[in-house]
Amino acid sequence: MTVSRRIFTRGAILAPAALAGPALLRVGDAGEAAAAGPVEAPQAQTPQVQRRRVGEIEVIALMDGALQRPTGMLLGYDETAASAAATLAHRRHDPAALTLGINGYVIRTGDRVIAVDTGSPAGLAPTLGRWHAALAAAGLAADRVDTVVLTHPHPDHVGGMTDPRSGMARLARAQVIASAVDWAFTFDAAVYAASPREVQVGFDISRAMIAPYDAAKTLIAPGAEVAPGLTTVAMPGHTPGHMGLRVDSGRESLLIWGDLLIAPAYQFAHPDWAFALDADKAAAAATRARVLDMAAADRIMVAGMHLDFPGFGHVERARQGYGFVAAPWDYRA
Ligand SMILES: [Zn+2]
Repeated sequence: MTVSRRIFTRGAILAPAALAGPALLRVGDAGEAAAAGPVEAPQAQTPQVQRRRVGEIEVIALMDGALQRPTGMLLGYDETAASAAATLAHRRHDPAALTLGINGYVIRTGDRVIAVDTGSPAGLAPTLGRWHAALAAAGLAADRVDTVVLTHPHPDHVGGMTDPRSGMARLARAQVIASAVDWAFTFDAAVYAASPREVQVGFDISRAMIAPYDAAKTLIAPGAEVAPGLTTVAMPGHTPGHMGLRVDSGRESLLIWGDLLIAPAYQFAHPDWAFALDADKAAAAATRARVLDMAAADRIMVAGMHLDFPGFGHVERARQGYGFVAAPWDYRA
């Protein structure tokens, strides 16, 4: 882990705050949060739900919210190059802060309801933690979820699983499918001890959110099929066992790529720019380059947890790196 302590303390990452209430949200606060400015609450803008069809399978995007992080968490970040990338991508550029949307996806196939990640823990920030509200808005009670597939167990992906106050599972009927490598990594005492305090805080949250499912988990190696038409795909780097989920039905496909990239305004153009929380930055960059190249060459529809909601679209080669073209509305859904 080569991340400097300073980068973490400049923006309280997913702080234990989440577990203990607003006071702890001040972790790392040295005025930077104020400098970056608040993310405006998105709830009035859309119903936070968007459905698509992939052949016979229904895929529902759920908006959890958004947060901001210092641009310094992008390693390789260069102001001139970043500004140019944002201009090419028709995106707003803020030299001080990255705005990260957080999405989850729910897949309905047959009578199955399969959540792919579950957003952020309630209480982490006012702009986050709306995954359950979005699920309800999609007409699904929490106990309808029979399976959670985790792309990786970072706090902003496991937050809907457990009530931070009671420690009780919120998806009472769900079995959890996760990569064996990531589950072990999350509970690895040596990795924890060697991590900066701010990273330990993330581990604390992840552990609290997934531990109640210990008896309801199936650990896999990426590449395994988890349901008919749903196949996990190895994408190591962001975490050691990070994985995507490929959805295939009829002649249609979708690749949900988890945290393949975190900052769409910059990392499509510059896949070599790592994120401070990539556990293995070189591996993450190599995976990013490989998957972006494949997605562009195969013309497969993609979705991502930090692509702007709802996150469905296509990758194409661009003058600088790659570009992203949002998918058109699906009138069949
Ligand atoms: Zn994430």
